[in-house]
Amino acid sequence: MTVDQEKITLPSAIVVRDLAEILDTTPVEVVKALMQNGVMATVVQVIDFDTAAIIAADFGFDVDAEGDALDDAPETEESTSVRLIDDGEGAVVRPPVVTVLGHVDHGKTTLLDRIRSANVQEGEAGGITQHIGAYQVKVGDGRVITFLDTPGHEAFTQMRARGANITDVGIVVVAADDGLMLQSREAISHVKAAQVPLIIAINKVDLPDADSARLKGQLTEEGLLPEELGGDQIVVEISALEGMGIDELLENVLVVADLEDLKADPNKQSQGIVLEAKNDRLRGVTATLLIQTGTLRAGDVLIAGTAFGRVKAMFDSDGMPIESAGPSTPVEILGLSAIPSAGESFETSADLRLARQEVDTRERETSGTGQSQAVTLDSLFGEIHKGNVTDFNLVVKADVQGSIDPLVQVLEAQSLEEVNVRVIHAAVGSVTESDVQLATASHGVVIAFNVMPEPGARKLSAESGVEVREYNVIYDIVEDIEKAVNGLLDPIFEDREDGVSEVRAIFRKGRRNAIAGCYVRDGAMVRNSLCRVMRNGETVHESIIGSLKRVDDDAREVVAGLECGIMVDGYDSFEEGDEIVAFHKEQVR
Ligand code: GDP
Repeated sequence: MTVDQEKITLPSAIVVRDLAEILDTTPVEVVKALMQNGVMATVVQVIDFDTAAIIAADFGFDVDAEGDALDDAPETEESTSVRLIDDGEGAVVRPPVVTVLGHVDHGKTTLLDRIRSANVQEGEAGGITQHIGAYQVKVGDGRVITFLDTPGHEAFTQMRARGANITDVGIVVVAADDGLMLQSREAISHVKAAQVPLIIAINKVDLPDADSARLKGQLTEEGLLPEELGGDQIVVEISALEGMGIDELLENVLVVADLEDLKADPNKQSQGIVLEAKNDRLRGVTATLLIQTGTLRAGDVLIAGTAFGRVKAMFDSDGMPIESAGPSTPVEILGLSAIPSAGESFETSADLRLARQEVDTRERETSGTGQSQAVTLDSLFGEIHKGNVTDFNLVVKADVQGSIDPLVQVLEAQSLEEVNVRVIHAAVGSVTESDVQLATASHGVVIAFNVMPEPGARKLSAESGVEVREYNVIYDIVEDIEKAVNGLLDPIFEDREDGVSEVRAIFRKGRRNAIAGCYVRDGAMVRNSLCRVMRNGETVHESIIGSLKRVDDDAREVVAGLECGIMVDGYDSFEEGDEIVAFHKEQVR
């Protein structure tokens, strides 16, 4: 995307924050402009071209749809950002990428294995069922779904913390005999925080003590009213072990995916995310990639973080060699120079020389920047103040349920028009690693009320710089958040009078300057303070007391009852009887 004076090019969909950058303004300003146009969107939300164009026009830009102009241009520098939103005319429907989450032993692995093995039986037999971090299955009429093979919200949120929002749909598996457990609730919060559609899979319905009705009641209490009870939460009953309800689950994945209108352009340069990577003694560095846009081909030159290389060989998730792979496809590749980190984005480069140059530049840049950005309540104030953040995300942990509800209510009540205080997860118990990860991924902080962080959480917080704030008094929490949120508001100043003097004589000094001979009636006149020259009750000039003399000497301050000579910056047209009022501004908010 290029800004060319007043003319800009916009894609068919764009994240609000990115639009703000193009328009050279703050995300908050864009959110406000959207509101004025009747569109409620957060900074991280995607808006379509038409909406973006209206906003851009409001900011005085001339807008073009992204298309021909950019397609011709070499995109080497363009392709550094990680974005699933793909646009342009060449964009076609891409498979959804699904993560399975849930409480331990509720059946995540069994479900993933069941879906995969059902698929292998149908088709391309012979492949080795290896785990490369993700796989694809074909459903019904030939449509494809990509599953991430590392279940659980730790992996899910770790990816998000690294800036890799790769999941399109979250399935939370809950065992019907067990009901909603701590990690089920966590998983639900994690999916919601990622702002992706959520499907609840009630598993183990084959068990005699399965109680789906009780579970649906629990979901309703969580605010997730199942569709069959008149709500809009998709709930599917399955038995991962016996293969019951799996087709219905997959159909529902496609339904929510269709609503999301997931698209990508297979003709673009390939970009995506590293799912995992390791050094294999025989094969060298192997990396599993999820392609987000474009088509990756064997022989392409690829850069992932500071690793690069030519793709020597490429395999699909069944371990079969392939020549090319399009959007939403997981592949395993050989040929990288080093092991990239999971969650790192990748892109292709025209040749190895350019790739090496790019990596050199990145190495120089990262060596200066040190650790990833810390998130503390203070830094969040700053970000909000700068307009970079409008959602104030909090993870709340407390000792008893009785504290949580009022705490969440009172915290969320601190929201203002410009900033939304969001409790993205609230639960009873000590602060866990997962809580810190969720805060990291959501650019938020953890509030611990009457509870302590677990050692792992403390360590992670120290490493990631994400703050865990411990409190024992609710009022202190509210006060801190209130302060943070109010920091966002433009301060309001009021004038406070310090002194008033009457002009009794005027002495000219040179052609442009005049000294007002004054009698200080009230308070004190102070050199360099703000002042106002008043005539018949009206202000005729406002500036600063540039010089203040007592007899012939410079004075810092002259108090009531004394005479003085005053020169006011930029003003020489005093008249006898004028008043000079000295004042200062005081911040009242
Ligand atoms: P995970 O920790 O969530 O990955 O759970 P697993 O997939 O490892 O499953 C935990 C246990 O529950 C295993 O013993 C599974 O065989 C069992 N299990 C999983 N799904 C079902 C199911 O649908 N019905 C029954 N009866 N058992 C299941």
